[in-house]
Amino acid sequence: MEGLTTTITPPAQTLRGYFIPYIVPSHISNLVDIAKLFASRGVQVTILTTHYNSLRFKHSINNLGYQIDVEIVDFPFKEVGLPEGIENYTDATPDQASKVFQALLMLQNPMEQAIRAAKPDFIVSDMYYHWSADLANQLAIPRLVFHVKCYFALCAAEVLSRFAPHQKVESDSELFLLPDLPDPIHMTRSQLPEWIQNRNPFSVFKEKIDEGDKKSYGVIVNSSYELEKSYADFYRDNLGRRAWCIGPYSLHCDKVNINININININININGTNKDDHPCFDWLNKRGQGEVIYVSFGSLSCFGAAQLLELASALETSGHPFIWVVRNGEKLLPDGFEARITEQNKGVLINGWAPQVKILEHPAIGGFVTHCGWNSTLESLTAGVPMITWPLSAEQFYNEKLVTRVLKVGVEVGANKWSPSIGASTDLIEKDKIQRAIKELMSKESEAEERRHAVKEMSKAVRTAVHVGGSSSNNLTALIQELHCLKAAQGTTILEQPKN
Ligand code: UDP
Repeated sequence: MEGLTTTITPPAQTLRGYFIPYIVPSHISNLVDIAKLFASRGVQVTILTTHYNSLRFKHSINNLGYQIDVEIVDFPFKEVGLPEGIENYTDATPDQASKVFQALLMLQNPMEQAIRAAKPDFIVSDMYYHWSADLANQLAIPRLVFHVKCYFALCAAEVLSRFAPHQKVESDSELFLLPDLPDPIHMTRSQLPEWIQNRNPFSVFKEKIDEGDKKSYGVIVNSSYELEKSYADFYRDNLGRRAWCIGPYSLHCDKVNINININININININGTNKDDHPCFDWLNKRGQGEVIYVSFGSLSCFGAAQLLELASALETSGHPFIWVVRNGEKLLPDGFEARITEQNKGVLINGWAPQVKILEHPAIGGFVTHCGWNSTLESLTAGVPMITWPLSAEQFYNEKLVTRVLKVGVEVGANKWSPSIGASTDLIEKDKIQRAIKELMSKESEAEERRHAVKEMSKAVRTAVHVGGSSSNNLTALIQELHCLKAAQGTTILEQPKN
């Protein structure tokens, strides 16, 4: 219990936690990873979700050597007018997305009832279930919130909200400084989420999320102290937030395979797997060390034809072999592109779900063109792969700054416009810009070598953090002990945040 002001021997009673994942694959996999971590430490874990979302991870929680329960609440398909089976943004068409959101709001009642009936000792909730903070306070139990975000993004969003530097510039393209952060980070208003740039209906929901955060016991962060030391300290010491960084979660346990598409006929198809036998590995095994560029924009990407054309021609003429996860965009690719690159052995296209973690870990991968989703970013850092950063929306522009300005392990492609449609780009990135970034990242010049060296060192540090005695492993131990203590003291013992 190092670092705690009060030491109470944890009682022998079982600690019971309810875990509530959001309805996006990357959030589900994160929360299931956290649930596994807690369960592996003897906590009695229940994941509260809907039927079709549970099918995404149920296979990954069997035969672990410890038990994880799943409790199902009904998804209101009929009430919102969605076909049965569409319970997740990744399965919904763009015009169904608002109905999925409506259904998400309607899950509050049945989820609250389930939690009240179960009376757990604590809740770990995705940030989107802001209501669970009030519920936890009524039940006098701690609510831990998790965002799929790094410390840097949490800090950046907080200083923006406190100091509003974006309101003091005259145009969307004028740079402003993010005040107080440990590094001098500049951004433009056009790179900020729409709900910050201008108030919109989501701003109100976002404010509820922020209030929920503030009323929570603390935040669980998927990062490691070594990676974001100054931001972890800043978050706690300057912004006064309690947080435990216990990541990368997926290194503690096998990565949750969420590559299940559920079609409207309610069949479950496993499209490719995270197994080594994916055909791309045969091809990768024949490539030289660090020569391949991996291109993927996450689980929600949906580029239009014009952007696909620019990217396709940049990759084809880059002189580097590549793997490109096109995700539903194959029909929009330029005529003959796939046949040409296959015949000339220039690259591999994956339509659908790629075994990303295993691809990144392959020694042939030398660079990752990424949208900077935090999972992808962390997976790249963990694998020791430098990045070309191409943020689109969510908090991805903050992640880009962490990668390129703080950690200095990436090259910016030059994206400047935050996109309101998830996974799409509103800012056409031309072929020339993409080619320049690839050349810079894959070069043999000293700057590129330094980037490669730095990211390999980060990879070692991150891997060490999850081992017994490492910072993330210790933080998890401290958190679970603290929850035990709170249970023993019936929620009245406030302990000091452990220091790394
Ligand atoms: N992912 C994958 N294969 C794919 C696309 C995505 O394994 O073809 C995984 C990826 O490894 C990461 C997650 O899905 O763990 C994407 O999360 P991220 O936060 O990067 O982006 P999002 O999908 O939320 O935009």
